[in-house]
Amino acid sequence: MSNLRFKVVETAFKKKAVSVEAPSGRPDEYFGKYVFTRQKMFQYLPPKVYTQLTNSIDNGIALDRNIADEVANGMKKWATDLGATHYTHWFQPLTEGTAEKHDAFIEHDGKGGMLEEFSGKLLVQQEPDASSFPNGGIRNTFEARGYSAWDPSSPVFVVDDTLCIPTIFISYTGEALDYKAPLLRALSAVNKAAVDVCHYFNPEVKKVVAYLGWEQEYFLVDEGLYAARPDLLLTGRTLMGHEASKSQQLEDHYFGAIPERVAAFMKDLEIQALELGIPVKTRHNEVAPNQFELAPIYEECNLAVNHNMLLMSLMRKVARKHGFRVLLHEKPFKGVNGSGKHNNWSLGTDTGIMLMSPGKTVEENLRFITFIVNTLMAVYHHNGLLKASIMSATNAHRLGANEAPPAIISSFLGTQLTQVLNHLEENAEENLITLSGKHGMKLDIPQIPELLIDNTDRNRTSPFAFTGNRFEFRAVGSEANCACAMIALNTALADQLVKFKSEVDTLINKGEAKISAIVKVIRQYIKECKPIRFDGNGYSDEWKAEAAKRGLDCETSCPLIFDNYLKPETIAMFEATGVMNRKELEARNEVKWEMYTKKIQIEARVLGDLALNHILPIATEYQSKLIDNVYKLKELFPTDKAVLLSRENVKLIEEIAEHTLFINEHVSALIEARKVANKITNERQKAIEYHDKIAPMLEEIRYHIDKLELIVDDQLWTLPKYRELLFIR
Ligand code: ADP
Ligand code: MG
Repeated sequence: MSNLRFKVVETAFKKKAVSVEAPSGRPDEYFGKYVFTRQKMFQYLPPKVYTQLTNSIDNGIALDRNIADEVANGMKKWATDLGATHYTHWFQPLTEGTAEKHDAFIEHDGKGGMLEEFSGKLLVQQEPDASSFPNGGIRNTFEARGYSAWDPSSPVFVVDDTLCIPTIFISYTGEALDYKAPLLRALSAVNKAAVDVCHYFNPEVKKVVAYLGWEQEYFLVDEGLYAARPDLLLTGRTLMGHEASKSQQLEDHYFGAIPERVAAFMKDLEIQALELGIPVKTRHNEVAPNQFELAPIYEECNLAVNHNMLLMSLMRKVARKHGFRVLLHEKPFKGVNGSGKHNNWSLGTDTGIMLMSPGKTVEENLRFITFIVNTLMAVYHHNGLLKASIMSATNAHRLGANEAPPAIISSFLGTQLTQVLNHLEENAEENLITLSGKHGMKLDIPQIPELLIDNTDRNRTSPFAFTGNRFEFRAVGSEANCACAMIALNTALADQLVKFKSEVDTLINKGEAKISAIVKVIRQYIKECKPIRFDGNGYSDEWKAEAAKRGLDCETSCPLIFDNYLKPETIAMFEATGVMNRKELEARNEVKWEMYTKKIQIEARVLGDLALNHILPIATEYQSKLIDNVYKLKELFPTDKAVLLSRENVKLIEEIAEHTLFINEHVSALIEARKVANKITNERQKAIEYHDKIAPMLEEIRYHIDKLELIVDDQLWTLPKYRELLFIR
């Protein structure tokens, strides 16, 4: 007997690593080969145009339309030299992916022929008919147009035969319909606010940039096994499947030797990523079997976001070449770790100061403390919003589970920084606060030892941890666009820094010395934001109780968490910083709720289908075999003996009947529940209904399917099992 499952398992087992040819030359020679870097701009653009373009990139000034044609021309020349025939405006709509529509570099020449053409107009702005992108009701159909506009701070690049131009995407009426527009506004807000605060310490600072270094976790599954799992194919996760007898309990996968087929995939991916200018650096196995991680060197936030989006699509493509499928879903398998995307985040100035790194002098350390404490204030006041910024139907499976950040945002600082803040808080006498020292952070106070802040102090359970020179926002989902979290975080900090400056200035205007005014406000902040600091075990029930007492957001329902975006203080913050207005926020929430509903809806359909046409027929077939066997035993043996011998099988027959009955009844109930939910017109209410009623039913049905998987003859079971999905590579 051989079913599809056996065939795909056998094929997967026999697969050999695809050989990957490294490009000639060292990585620094092919790094950025397909990116229109400054060096290439210099080469392909007239000197005057080059100067104007780089000036507008560096200083965030709008590009002069008069030079657009020349820029476009140089770009086209460079791209066609690489074999490109098409171009596309590449943007980041409110889905998880990117969007692109390819056009060829051709125009009528007016004489019945074609000529190669790419004008400045086409580079700078387009009107994709994008009426089917999620917009949360911002666009009526009669004004379905959206504009995509080039963001010159994101370099253009070539993928295959297409020149990709990173753009923002806005509606006819000017509202953002994407992630990039508000991200750029948030980065500009934090730049302005942080520069102003820097001026207390360093008047020469002109610009502050936010940095982002993401760490991308993912699973790989053999493509044959993947194709035999309709749930993986359609929803990105397994909706059923009993845990394998061996899972991750031996912890033998983490940092272990990378399997050959996987190593070939990684090598290929890294080469292609480097060619696209993504500075990938780290690779390793993750905790779960078949789970891996990849991280680049951190970059300016906007670029890092682009690069992550680009990398995710590259991963999907390269995985196919190696006979794998990459799973970016936050929780593809029950009972094993999910995948996240740690967002390492910090701020730096144009003068080379890293604002989240302790310094050597008193002033440097006060500046460091200023930025740390303001960040804590921002995270404290907007902890609910930050959670909303990382929440989704898929990431909801991961948060609060026993391997990922808890569904409560708190911040871990480590013992040393904690001591420093405690000390600052407790000492009323200003003259005690003399921060100095040659190495790292030293407090010149007798009772406190020299402090060297380093990376060794770790708390893996903290969603927002300080790790020496940056904060690590660990709650971001593996599939998410980092922009969403980065918009919330940078905006919250921008808003907070503006408040800080105004409080300090008020004191200064009253005659307080600058340093003492800063210290006074900081001290008050340290007290105020204390509830956000937590160094203990984030998984414990005590913490949940404690966090609620502290007033932190403890909501766990995804649709309700989204409400944080529409709280008056959130709207005020986004509006004050100019990042988003109420209308944009409302529209985004409509999209979030709608997306949530759709994901659960699809899962419910897929589970229902699989239950009815895969699981129940197999279970019934096996049950019939058992019944057959019971009857035959009766024919063969005297009744007493036959009853005895068939006792266990009769029990099994009954057990199967109970499971199949449950599944049958509950699949029907699931369909009915969906009908009720689908009638709800309010997107928020509908999402709540899907969360409260439908999502739990999926789990209940799954429980019985997983039980059947344990009982039913392995030969009959058609869906690849966890042991195959997780251990074949
Ligand atoms: P770990 O797994 O120990 O957290 P990794 O090396 O996997 O560390 O990833 C750390 C990430 O943090 C990398 O992308 C790295 O470039 C980034 N990073 C390091 N320093 C900073 C910083 N100051 N600001 C932002 N990101 C940083
Ligand atoms: Mg990390």
